[in-house]
Amino acid sequence: LKSQLNDPTLFTTAGFIDNEFITTSNSGKHFPVYDPANGTEIARFPDMGIEETDKAIQAAKQAFPSWSKTTAKERSTILRNWYNLILENEQDLAKIITWENGKPLADALGEVRYGASFFEWFAEEAKRLYGEVIPSPNRQQRFIAIRQPLGVVGIITPWNFPNAMITRKLGAALAVGCTVVAKPASETPLSAVALYELGRRAGVPKGVIGLVTTHHDTKAIGKHLCESQDISGISFTGSTAVGKLLLKQSADTVKKVSLELGGNAAFIVFEDADIDKAVDAAVLAKFRSSGQTCICVNRFYVHSSIKDVFGERLRERVEKFRVGSGMEANTTHGPLINKASVEKVRSHVHDALDHGAKLLTGGKESENTHGYFYPPTVLTDMNNNMRIATEETFGPVAGIFSFETEDEVLELANNTRFGLSGYFFSKDVSRCWRVAENLQVGMVGVNTGAISSEVAPFGGVKESGIGREGARQGLDEYTQYKYINMAI
Ligand code: ADP
Repeated sequence: LKSQLNDPTLFTTAGFIDNEFITTSNSGKHFPVYDPANGTEIARFPDMGIEETDKAIQAAKQAFPSWSKTTAKERSTILRNWYNLILENEQDLAKIITWENGKPLADALGEVRYGASFFEWFAEEAKRLYGEVIPSPNRQQRFIAIRQPLGVVGIITPWNFPNAMITRKLGAALAVGCTVVAKPASETPLSAVALYELGRRAGVPKGVIGLVTTHHDTKAIGKHLCESQDISGISFTGSTAVGKLLLKQSADTVKKVSLELGGNAAFIVFEDADIDKAVDAAVLAKFRSSGQTCICVNRFYVHSSIKDVFGERLRERVEKFRVGSGMEANTTHGPLINKASVEKVRSHVHDALDHGAKLLTGGKESENTHGYFYPPTVLTDMNNNMRIATEETFGPVAGIFSFETEDEVLELANNTRFGLSGYFFSKDVSRCWRVAENLQVGMVGVNTGAISSEVAPFGGVKESGIGREGARQGLDEYTQYKYINMAI
């Protein structure tokens, strides 16, 4: 694979500790990385443990005093260099994403640019970390609040955006002067190391960014990052179960914790919606990355008067998808990440069918594929007894429920412990305000299915998370206010 890159050095199978790429682990063990399109092993990474994690933490701790005292402009320049290097190498980085994650190359390229946009954005925001001068309530004192970096932060990222989930966290952390120890998902470490190589070239100083690769010791390293007194913050993107565990493990050291967890997005189509636009948006918001993003739609609520038309048009669109290896030029939808994902999707579909759902398309798996594929599927006549009503499927299955009134659908949409994103389609301005305000989520798409942007605060409410990423607010996760009272 290496030889297929313009710059083969971006294909590195190593962690990065104290400014060195480390290709072996203290335990002597390695873990494999697979191409989900065919199940073959494409790389082996050092399976690191607590010792290596400690080394990375100590290096980050040592680097913190000098990194946190660089000027905002100096940090901005390094982030900007890194951004430029990512764009110069975007084709290679996209290929690496497709190899280990499976998403089609065009989507992978989109992810590389989206990922880079966080370095561009935070290179700019670094210079605007404003504090406050507070009008004094008395004549003898002056009040000021300044913002300071937390210290060393631990970062844990998932496989569904192997590049962008790292840059979104690193960009904000580095902009404010934090140093970092990151642990990428063991399914997708290649993208992380490639980014680190570019970071090194961009001039990130020694010790400022560490990368620990592991599979076997994932739990132990996660616990160690949470419990270490040398780490001041944790930023995690992944499943709700693991997020809750990390929050608990961080309690004893009273860490600042930022969590982007699972969602269960509703997509509501009101009777006055532009159906074609809604179908276009549904295709994106449900099937992008084969349904494996945390803001992917999990439940479609379509007004009963248009449910059949909507279902029919969605079916037509889904049947035009070309499912296959992400490396093939005409592939629109790639495989799922692994066998367990395919199993989960299959069980959700069977469960829905057993409880009375009707299959509009998909649902039937081909017997002789080697990779982790599931056919894009549309189900209708869904009801609340089905698992899809409450559980995140994280796969290419659209289940259509019907409703009659706005109040009813809001109650249905909000009847979940999750609250990441929600979408709806309507042409009634008053309703747009009402529904946007009443959906219990952190992000709402009104007449659109594409909401992610580096300039907007990304995050959830309820059990979907704490904190926001990207935007001006993204800096808050990595800073504390310090109040200074000066007598005169
Ligand atoms: P997903 O279903 O997306 O794989 P996970 O929450 O399992 O979600 O994984 C997200 C990230 O969390 C990955 O980097 C994974 O290795 C890591 N992870 C999984 N379990 C733990 C744990 N117990 N402690 C710390 N990190 C974990």
